[in-house]
Amino acid sequence: MILSEQNIRNYYTASVPAAPARPALAGEVTCDVAVVGGGIAGCSAALHLAERGYSVVLLESDRVGFGASGRSGAQLISGYACGQEKIERLAGREAAATMWKIATEGLDLVRERVARHAIDCDLSWGQLHVALKPRQRSDLVAECEELSSRYGYRSLRLLERAEVESLLATKRYIAGVLDTNSGHCHPLKYVRGLARAAEAAGAVIHEGSRVTRLERGSTVTLSTAGGRVRAKYAVLAGNAYLGGLVPELERKIMAVGTYIVATEPLGAGRARALIRDNLAVTDVNFVLDYFRLSADHRLLFGGRVSYSGLDPLGTERATRARMLKVFPQLADARVEYAWGGYVDITMNRAPHFGRLGGNLYFLQGFSGHGMALTGVAGKLAAEAIAGQAERFDLFGRIAHHDFPGGMALRRPALVLGMLWYRMRDLL
Ligand SMILES: Cc1cc2nc3c(=O)[nH]c(=O)nc-3n(C[C@H](O)[C@H](O)[C@H](O)COP(=O)(O)OP(=O)(O)OC[C@H]3O[C@@H](n4cnc5c(N)ncnc54)[C@H](O)[C@@H]3O)c2cc1C
Repeated sequence: MILSEQNIRNYYTASVPAAPARPALAGEVTCDVAVVGGGIAGCSAALHLAERGYSVVLLESDRVGFGASGRSGAQLISGYACGQEKIERLAGREAAATMWKIATEGLDLVRERVARHAIDCDLSWGQLHVALKPRQRSDLVAECEELSSRYGYRSLRLLERAEVESLLATKRYIAGVLDTNSGHCHPLKYVRGLARAAEAAGAVIHEGSRVTRLERGSTVTLSTAGGRVRAKYAVLAGNAYLGGLVPELERKIMAVGTYIVATEPLGAGRARALIRDNLAVTDVNFVLDYFRLSADHRLLFGGRVSYSGLDPLGTERATRARMLKVFPQLADARVEYAWGGYVDITMNRAPHFGRLGGNLYFLQGFSGHGMALTGVAGKLAAEAIAGQAERFDLFGRIAHHDFPGGMALRRPALVLGMLWYRMRDLL
């Protein structure tokens, strides 16, 4: 297990006090809704359901935030991983317009939850997408115009090279789009805050409680090593960590590794000279780099998705090398932390939300773009369970296909696909 807690040096876990462990599930429990997964999606679903008066039990195999949510680059970005144009093609124009609003609501929800539950998570606003090539600049210009004219999204501003260079101490980028409505946070503090809010609203959370068996029916039964939960509804929010619990869902996603390095603290002056205004930054390559500063003035630099799954040993070195391509002036800065996690990508990189058999809801396929979307996805699942399914059901319009080649062959197939995209990034 290359990405387990034991052999990663995760800056986020090192920068928060250890949280007392919640007890594992023991014995038989009955509730209205069982939630699988203590990431942002699961905690948000639990919170919204508990607020609506449902009895909720959340089962987390490890600790809250163990998965992607506690390891994330934590850029809170508007829209969807696949881009809004693709959402239009997949779901139709009208549905796409509502889906854009839902994604934007995801950002508002972060603001609102952080304020309402006093979640201290280093939240900061301002995010920059940067282009390396003229083709990418043209795409950014077109997207900017489209989002402003068709969706009335007014927080974007196109920056030409000189302005990008005044914000970032690098010559690598030729243009950028600044989104003042997107931002970043400390993801582990955020997800832990959501979990506490869910508990305050009445949800019960069990850690160390991996669901190993799921029986469907008018009552859903979830079994762990120590107990069983019977529920009228279940929400599956296990990301790529869900394992083989529901094979038809697993076939729709691929676990893809992405890695981050954190430098030693650089000091406020040096850090701010690298990235002005505490912006989060991501380039627009398919195999992308993303970076930002931490509250204690480190550079957190991520990228280098591993589709081969073979990776990890050279990962820290390779990620640092990518960092030095952007900021060669950091050659003397020590890397103190390096970690990775899995994202759940779908074939079309659109999110995959839906229900099986009427009472088994699932939220997956965030495709590396889930920091803001997971929160509102949990809210939509709660709405749907409460009988207002219109917004949740919009996502059912998007057709999702199994990864080709079955479990054994789909990874090599994706590696080939990725090589094509990587070559495209280089052109
Ligand atoms: C390194 C990295 C960088 C990223 N950077 C960004 C970024 O900058 N911006 C962005 O928008 N997105 C980013 N993402 C993606 C984003 O973090 C995820 O989309 C989001 O956190 C997913 O949340 P989740 O709740 O769906 O899943 P997770 O946070 O992965 O939570 C799922 C949880 O379910 C638990 N679980 C799974 N199966 C079971 C089971 N059978 N029984 C009990 N529990 C189970 C797991 O232990 C896990 O804790 C990044 C991801 C990674 C890994």
